[in-house]
Amino acid sequence: MTKGKIVNLEGYVIRLADYKDNDAMITFVTDKDTYSFLARGIKKPTSKNRASMALLAKSKLSLIQTDGTYVLKESQPLSYPDAKDDFSRSVSLMFIAELCSKMIQGEEAEAIYPWLDATMSAIETIGNDSLSIALIFLAQVLRIEGYGLNVDGCVVCGKKKDIVGISLSDGGFLCREDLEYESQKRDVRILKILRYIFRCGPNDIARVSFERKECKFILDDLTKNLEEMTGIKLRSLELVKKI
Ligand SMILES: [Zn+2]
Repeated sequence: MTKGKIVNLEGYVIRLADYKDNDAMITFVTDKDTYSFLARGIKKPTSKNRASMALLAKSKLSLIQTDGTYVLKESQPLSYPDAKDDFSRSVSLMFIAELCSKMIQGEEAEAIYPWLDATMSAIETIGNDSLSIALIFLAQVLRIEGYGLNVDGCVVCGKKKDIVGISLSDGGFLCREDLEYESQKRDVRILKILRYIFRCGPNDIARVSFERKECKFILDDLTKNLEEMTGIKLRSLELVKKI
């Protein structure tokens, strides 16, 4: 039998899938890549790896690599999601977890990681609006995956002035002349928010707080479009509507 090599990682748990008995297959994202590994016995209440292997926990861990497969050796939690008995924070965390689980693959890990890290620290801070944070994270994941909106100017003519709406199918802003349907029209405030969420940097996440109805409206627009393009449906959106 070949002796395994030890791999030390730091990152976030983004997917948990039941395996046999008390075991689970975990997907873990770091600032370089994603890793899937077997975590033995972590569903047992007494497992010492339980806290560090919770969904969206940030952890340090050691894996044993043997012939291309990884098994968890030990782990240590650095921080884990805490909804602090707040319904909107709890739903926002569910939304972020589902988004990570369905959207992050190996190649995008490096680009998404700083956003996930900034999102998780921002959401933990009392006073920050969790739904606005979740909305920015969604916009950035979409941008990185190539489903973002072009918010620099009209997608048809390139004009930067007189922007009055969006075309989800063309992926960006529309000027007054190129607006085709009434349904493409958006309020100035919604257009401003769209521009912010697609253009801001990871440090800007906690600097804004949008109204709840604005967040929900944009979440609906962007996730509907994602579903049309990829077939990916985010089930936690139903809960977001109840906030
Ligand atoms: Zn135009």
